[in-house]
Formats: sequence, structure tokens, C-alpha cells
Amino acid sequence: MLEKDIERILVTEQEINAISKKLGAQITEDYHDKKPIIIGLLKGCIPFMAELIKHIDIYCEIELMGVQSYHGGTESSGNVKITKDLDVSVEGRHVLIAEDIVDTGRTINVVKNLLKYRGALTVEVVTLLDKPAGRQEDFTPKYIGSTIPKEFVVGFGLDYEEMYRNLPYIGVLKPEVYNK
Ligand code: 5GP
Repeated sequence: MLEKDIERILVTEQEINAISKKLGAQITEDYHDKKPIIIGLLKGCIPFMAELIKHIDIYCEIELMGVQSYHGGTESSGNVKITKDLDVSVEGRHVLIAEDIVDTGRTINVVKNLLKYRGALTVEVVTLLDKPAGRQEDFTPKYIGSTIPKEFVVGFGLDYEEMYRNLPYIGVLKPEVYNK
């Protein structure tokens, strides 16, 4: 059903599994004595975070935060809105933000600064995808799954007008989908 709207696949399900394993092992090593809070940014983080945490073998907490930046289209608006705040304090804690994709870097910078302001000891970022060519703020995530070109992608949590998040891979939509 959804596959007919996809022009090509950029990151396969198998590649995402391998990426999650590799990043999970790195995070396990780096955070083994830190009891971090892993904070996923809704809604795009859900499939990636679920896959990633299976491979993180340390004491850690999982939290979610709602952040909106694109408002349904394919271009970043520059406005970042917190739609669901954290239920816990990050004061004195090591925080790892789990994100689906970093594009302009605005969303992650806003969240990072907020968590630091609230007293987090360290704030690092793990992202499934990185689009460095889209960057408008100086930022490099510590853990990157796959670096992709400046293209609008969907699947594995990433949406176009709230659809396609349930695809098991990352793909590029056919141009006609945007003209529907
Ligand atoms: P940034 O603030 O770095 O520009 O954007 C981060 C957010 O924008 C991501 O969490 C995601 O929601 C959205 N975004 C950025 N690039 C893409 C993309 O290629 N596809 C989709 N579906 N969303 C994107």
C-alpha cells in the first residue's frame, strides 16, 4: 500500500538494525557508569528509540518530549514548539537525546539548551539520520546512524503530513505524492 508512493529506499530495514546495534554498543560503553536519561523527541523517535534501546545494556531511564518544527510540510519553519514537556527533572543527570533526523540543527539546539539550563550535567545526541548539508546552526551529533543528502525522507518514524511513519525503512517519496 505505502510502498507504491516510494521512489527509492535510502536506508533499508537491515541497515537500520545494524546501525542500532552499533550505536547501542557505543552508548553502552560510553555510559556504563552514568545511569543516563535517554530522552526521545516525539513522534519521529519512536521506532528508532525502540530499536536502539534493545542494544543498550546499562542502567538507564527512558523519557519522551514532544517537539514540533515542520508543521506538516517539507521545509523547516524555524519555529520550535514544545508540545509535551518532560515529567522528570534532568538536574545533575547525564542526558542522551534520541532523534530521528538532524537537518537545520535548530530543534536539537533548542532542546539541548533547555536541558542544560535545567541543570543537566551533560547533553549528547544520538540520531538515526544526519543531513549536514541542511545545517543552519553549528551542531554535530555525537552518535550518527547514517549521513544522507539534503533530501526529504520518510519512514521509520519520519512523516509527510503525519503519514508514512510506519514504513520499516527510510525512503524518498515520489514527486507526485506532494501534488496530491
Ligand atoms: P531541524 O530542526 O534539525 O531542521 O529538524 C529536525 C526535525 O525536522 C526532525 O525531527 C524532523 O521532524 C524534521 N525533519 C527534518 N528533515 C526531515 C526529513 O527529511 N523528513 C521528515 N519527514 N522530517 C524531517
